[in-house]
Amino acid sequence: MLEVRNLHATIAGKEILKGINLTVKDGEVHAIMGPNGSGKSTLSAVLTGNPLYEVTDGMAVFNGKNLLEMKPEDRSHEGLFLSFQYPVEIPGVSMTNFMKAAVNAKRAYQGLEPLKAAEFMVLMREKRRLVGMDSNLSRRSVNEGFSGGEKKRNEIFQMAMLEPKLSILDETDSGLDVDAMRIVAEGVNKMHTDETSTIVITHYERLLDMIKPDVVHVLYKGRIVKTAGPELAKEIEQRGYDWIKEEVDAGD
Ligand code: ADP
Ligand code: MG
Ligand code: MG
Repeated sequence: MLEVRNLHATIAGKEILKGINLTVKDGEVHAIMGPNGSGKSTLSAVLTGNPLYEVTDGMAVFNGKNLLEMKPEDRSHEGLFLSFQYPVEIPGVSMTNFMKAAVNAKRAYQGLEPLKAAEFMVLMREKRRLVGMDSNLSRRSVNEGFSGGEKKRNEIFQMAMLEPKLSILDETDSGLDVDAMRIVAEGVNKMHTDETSTIVITHYERLLDMIKPDVVHVLYKGRIVKTAGPELAKEIEQRGYDWIKEEVDAGD
């Protein structure tokens, strides 16, 4: 699914990613944890092609293709999905029209005809049911005036509509309440198949308790410094990051 090797990236001339290695296989769920400012959001931004970041070394292969050479929209059309830590509001654009444009852009990339209006409505209804989203929400402008929980559900809904191969969920460092966590976890669990993979970036052991990742990584100072099973998340919940920082800093 995804193979990242020795990935280095800078923003504004400052090196943030300092040699990331990460292999995600089909059907796997990976969690990336780590102290604030470690480079977690930078990693997701670089993988999805945020132009603010410059890749200075290394490679990333997604489904056999060189990810780093692809335009951001093509990465999405190839099946990469990134959730947003801070979802944007798009006044005047209904959720329905927004999703229609996104779904049909992906179909065009795949050489498929746009969905007919009726087909699209069937798809919308199916996915709305899957994620438990109110039909009123899809008539409103994208994220405008949505509560935190509604934004989360909307994000999961967008993910369901686009049927990504690899989803990267970059969760906020604070303010994700238990209900919002449940929305995210249920969405991830419902959409999970043997052919799809998820990377969840989070501080919350509680979220990982619901998602049950196969692999847990800790990112610190721009590198993945620890990789283990779900028990690592539990250990971090109990002990924090200081013991990991000390191990790494002692080796620097
Ligand atoms: P995390 O998601 O792990 O909390 P980030 O990837 O957001 O970490 O940030 C990693 C580092 O990059 C931080 O030290 C942050 O200050 C720095 N950084 C992020 N954006 C910019 C920017 N626009 N200019 C300079 N430094 C930045
Ligand atoms: Mg942060
Ligand atoms: Mg972050």
